[in-house]
Amino acid sequence: MPVGFSSYWSQTTKTAKAPEGWANYILLMGPSEDVPLAKLCPHAGLCASVCLRFSGRNPMARPVQEARARVWAENRTLFLLEAKEELRRLVKREARKGNQVCARFDGLSDTGDAKVLAEALPQVQFVDYTKDKQRYWHWLLYRDNFPPNWHLTFSRDRQADNEFCRQVLGLGGTAAVVFFSQVPKEWEGYPVIDGDAHDLRFMDPRGVVVGLKVKGKGIYTANRKVKQEFVL
Ligand code: SF4
Repeated sequence: MPVGFSSYWSQTTKTAKAPEGWANYILLMGPSEDVPLAKLCPHAGLCASVCLRFSGRNPMARPVQEARARVWAENRTLFLLEAKEELRRLVKREARKGNQVCARFDGLSDTGDAKVLAEALPQVQFVDYTKDKQRYWHWLLYRDNFPPNWHLTFSRDRQADNEFCRQVLGLGGTAAVVFFSQVPKEWEGYPVIDGDAHDLRFMDPRGVVVGLKVKGKGIYTANRKVKQEFVL
């Protein structure tokens, strides 16, 4: 195991909410001086200032998350190999408890690397959120080119994404939208589900909005554009 951390996968308050029969794991990497956010989340926009990195236990875990990102940036092959082997061990351990494993690789990043792990571990269900429109569009329209055990949810960032969200939803995809305090029943004419209930997004019906409540205190100090456009 590389220096600075003892495991790739962890569980959080949200992953602990996985429905019965499932164990949910997440991989958390954080930007640092040598691994800028632009590398981990090339499509980050308004979300960056109120990212999950600033909520829950993430600020305390920052050195570990930065150490993971350094290994990912320096030796991606080693990173993916070790993350895969650790997950393989978790699959065995969870199977003894009667659980299947659902894993979110890009817990605090948007690399798309889960595709590699999904191909290698067909017994694991992978889920990710992405702000990469091209990746999401290809996944939605050309599913045969992607591992069947990798599910993506498009992650809306701003007003200008609304039209793309409508197209995605109209084609049976799903879009995550962040709300301030109350998750409405509908958004843009599409039903909204409670995305905070658990993180097993592959279970979501087609054509629904995944409603998430903004987390952390960052929203109170965020600029006006973030408050008006990212959080609804
Ligand atoms: S893309 Fe996701 S992980 Fe990256 S900065 Fe935005 S909210 Fe955070």
